Amino acid sequence: MSAVNESLIRDVVAEVLGRLGSAAPAPQPAPAPAPAAPAASCGCGTKKSSAANVSLRGKYGVFQDANEACAAAQEAFLQLREKGIAARRKIEEIVKTLAEKNAEPWGKLEFEETKIGRLDHKIAKLGLIKLVPGVDWLRPDARSGDHGITLEEYTPFGVVGAITPSTHSIPTLSGNIVNIAAAGNAMVFNAHPSAAKCAAVAVRAYNEAIYRETGIENIACIIEKPTLDSFAALCKNEFIRLLLVTGGPMVVKAAMQTGKRAICAGPGNPPVFVDDTCCPTRAAKAIISGGAFDNNLLCIGEKEVFVLDNTADKLMQKLSENGAVKLNEAQLERLTKAAFTFKEGQGGGCAHASVNRDFIGKDASVLAQAAGINLPPGTQMLFAETDAKHPFVDEEQMMPFMPIVRVKSVEEGIAESLKAEHGYKHTAIIHSHDVENITAMARALDTTLFVKNGASPAGLGLGGEGYLSFSIATPTGEGITNPRTFTRVRRCVMVDNLRIY
Ligand code: NAD
Repeated sequence: MSAVNESLIRDVVAEVLGRLGSAAPAPQPAPAPAPAAPAASCGCGTKKSSAANVSLRGKYGVFQDANEACAAAQEAFLQLREKGIAARRKIEEIVKTLAEKNAEPWGKLEFEETKIGRLDHKIAKLGLIKLVPGVDWLRPDARSGDHGITLEEYTPFGVVGAITPSTHSIPTLSGNIVNIAAAGNAMVFNAHPSAAKCAAVAVRAYNEAIYRETGIENIACIIEKPTLDSFAALCKNEFIRLLLVTGGPMVVKAAMQTGKRAICAGPGNPPVFVDDTCCPTRAAKAIISGGAFDNNLLCIGEKEVFVLDNTADKLMQKLSENGAVKLNEAQLERLTKAAFTFKEGQGGGCAHASVNRDFIGKDASVLAQAAGINLPPGTQMLFAETDAKHPFVDEEQMMPFMPIVRVKSVEEGIAESLKAEHGYKHTAIIHSHDVENITAMARALDTTLFVKNGASPAGLGLGGEGYLSFSIATPTGEGITNPRTFTRVRRCVMVDNLRIY
C-alpha cells in the first residue's frame, strides 16, 4: 500500500471519528481506493477518472464542481463493479434504512427549505422508500435449445446524471439511488436550487454509511450549489452515459437537447372523470386523498374533475362531507386572480395564465385566505365549479384546490379529460363501474398510469398493487422507473453446449 493511501486512510478515519463525536470505537472503514491512473477512453464506460486523486476524498459525495463529482462517481462505479452484487445490496439496505430512520428530521429539513407541501406528508414519503425495487428486480432472461444456452443480462451503464425536482427532493434522490445503484451504476445529482441543501445532507449521510460498510465513497454524488451551468457541465461530461430527469417541461426539453440518452420523468396534469355508475362517496374520498396529498405536489395527483351532470351535485356533497370546502363564484374569482398571473397573448388577444409560484404547494387554508375566507389550518382541500377552460383546469397548478366541471356525456367527459392532460401521457383517473366507459377512457388518454376507482397514489403501489418510484418516465416511455430502466441488455451465448437434455 502506498504512503499516500496510508495517510489518506488515517485522515478519513480521523474525520469519521470526529464527525461521530464520540469516544466509542467507529467501525473500521474499508481501505480507500487507490487513485486511478489516467487511461484513454474507448467509450466502453470503464475509463478511469484521471482526476481521481486526493481532492475527491472526504467529500462523501458533496462536490462544488460538476466535473469533479463526475470523476468521483466514475471511480465509485468502477469500485462497485469490483465489489459486486453484495455491495449493491448493502447500498440498497443503507438507503432504505436511513431514509426511514431520518424521515422526520429530513422531512422537516426539506419542508423548512422549500416551504411547499405538508410536513406530515414529507415525512410519510421518506418512510416509503423501502417500497422502491432494488437488486432483486434484476433477473436475467435465459433461453435453452438444441444449440446450447443464451443468457441476457441487465448490466450497468456507468454514471447516470440525475436531475431532481423541488416537489420531492430527498424522496426522489433516495428512490433514484436505490434503482440506479441496484443496477450497478453510480450517479451525480443536480437538485433543484430551492431544495438542494436538504438533498446534500441526505447524500452525505448515505455516502458516509456506504463508505463505512463497503469502502465506496462517492456512489451518489451531488453538486452542492446547483445551477444551469452545473447542469450543462454534467450533461457534457464524458463519464455521464445516461440522464434521468424528473421535473417540468423546461428541463425535459433541455435534457433532450443534450445529445445524451435521457430518461425523462416529465410533467402531468391528471384529469379525473366521474360517471353515474360510480360510488360517489368512494370517488370523493379518493379525490381528496390523492389531490390533497402534500398539497397536490405529486405529479400523479388529481388536478381537475369532469363529472356527469346527473352525478355532480352528489359528488360535491360527498366532497363537502369528507373534509373539502366549496368556494362560491366570487371566492373562486379572488383565488384565481391571486393564484395565476395573466400575460397578454401575442397576437391572439387572449391572456395566458401562469401559475403564481407563491401559491404552489400551499395549505388549503392559505388559498382560502386569498379567496377571502378563513378556514382552520387542517383543511384538506378547496373545490369549486368551473368551466373546462378555467386556468385551474388547464394549468398544472399543484395546489389543494379542485376545479369541478360538469359534462353532459361520457364522450364529452373523456374528450375534456384528454384536452386537460395535454398529451403528457402521464396519469388519468376514472371513477366508474362501467367497463365500457373505463376502456374508452383508457384508450383515448393512453396515459402511463390509469387508475380506476381509487386515489392516484394507488398507481404507485400505495393502496393499489405495484411498486413505487418517484420518477415516472412519461415522454420517453420507460414508465415507472425501476432498476432495469438503468441497464444495458447484454447477451451471452454458449454454442451447442451446456443444454443438458
Ligand atoms: P422544475 O421543472 O422547475 O425543476 C425540476 C428540475 O429541473 C430542477 O432540478 C430544476 O433546477 C431543473 N431545471 C428546470 N429548468 C431547467 C432548465 N431549463 N435546464 C436545466 N435544468 C432545469 O420542476 P419542479 O417545480 O421542481 O417540479 C415539479 C414538476 O416536476 C412538475 O411539472 C411535475 O409534474 C414534475 N414531476 C414529474 C415527476 C414524474 O415522475 N414524472 C415527478 C415529480 C415531479
